[in-house]
Amino acid sequence: MTPSSAFASDNTAGICPEAFAAMEAANGGSAASYGDDEWTAHLCDRVRELFEIDCEVFLVFNGTAANALALAQLCRPFHSVICHEYAHIENDECGAVEFFSGGSKLIPTRGTNGKLELAEMEGALARQHELHSHKPRVISITQATELGTVYAREEIETIADFAHSRAMLLHTDGARFANAVASLGCRPKEISWQAGVDVLCFGGTKNGLAAGELVVFFDKQLGREFEYRAKQAGQLASKMRVVAAPWLALLTDEVWLRNAEHANAAAKRLAEMVRRCDVEIVLPVQTNAVFARLSSGTVSRLQAQLYKFIEPDIYRLMCSWATTGEELAELAGNFEAARPCAGAAAWL
Ligand SMILES: *Cc1c(COP(=O)(O)O)cnc(C)c1O
Repeated sequence: MTPSSAFASDNTAGICPEAFAAMEAANGGSAASYGDDEWTAHLCDRVRELFEIDCEVFLVFNGTAANALALAQLCRPFHSVICHEYAHIENDECGAVEFFSGGSKLIPTRGTNGKLELAEMEGALARQHELHSHKPRVISITQATELGTVYAREEIETIADFAHSRAMLLHTDGARFANAVASLGCRPKEISWQAGVDVLCFGGTKNGLAAGELVVFFDKQLGREFEYRAKQAGQLASKMRVVAAPWLALLTDEVWLRNAEHANAAAKRLAEMVRRCDVEIVLPVQTNAVFARLSSGTVSRLQAQLYKFIEPDIYRLMCSWATTGEELAELAGNFEAARPCAGAAAWL
């Protein structure tokens, strides 16, 4: 039996039906290229409406490009970015921020549950030796975090105040921003610009698209000439409409929110099932990820590809907009086969 990849990541899922249909609809006939089409214009307007603010909106292909270009836009080569030690920009982007900024440095810091902590950031700043170190310029948070947790609005406000009082800016890696909004039940503005976020990378891929992440500058001045930066980095789609139309579909009739709610709810069920197998869940389940302590013996019998996130034995099980009851039941059955936990599959 081929191991299922259903829970390895939220990008093992395909494209959601609404996005797929929108791409097909936009595919007919010809349209202006390089973002001069009507779908791209509507998308940017819809993003401004959703965030309830007049902001600059750009579309790039993936999250690495969004983060790297957004941070390069905020930094000069001698600037630095404070982030969490588990941050995607620090661990999973092959130095893209450093590369595109032409010399900026990431300063990873520790913090419980994947979240930045003021004392740790204070300490990191104190270790910068004026002009002998990079000049701290940006704090980058991830919302939802790499560990599946979310920052509450007040936590973001506190970090934003910390940043702004030091003439620094606040960036959000929002690859799973939708999951965070769904989890908090808030309006997008409440955990972005109203809380002090200057730039948001708003992810669509994990929420049901083939590709395409938004870079949103809430201070329009900060986004000046970003289109040149994106083009130079190979991030300007000539057939922009096939990327923009599915995004627009995601933001129509709350599809983005329903997709995120589905993923978050699936993770809650998964967590309950895993708990019934007497498996330790090591982090709060606030979005679409479940982090569990599993022996390698259990993992090998689960018939599922799982991502080992923290050595030696913490695995990440990820749900998505597409996670089905059958997939959850199959995993539950495999858990039962691997460990004595009668009733887990029946419970589902
Ligand atoms: C998936 C992800 C990204 C984007 O990754 P790409 O593969 O470049 O699209 C960025 N940040 C976080 C936290 C992610 O999980």
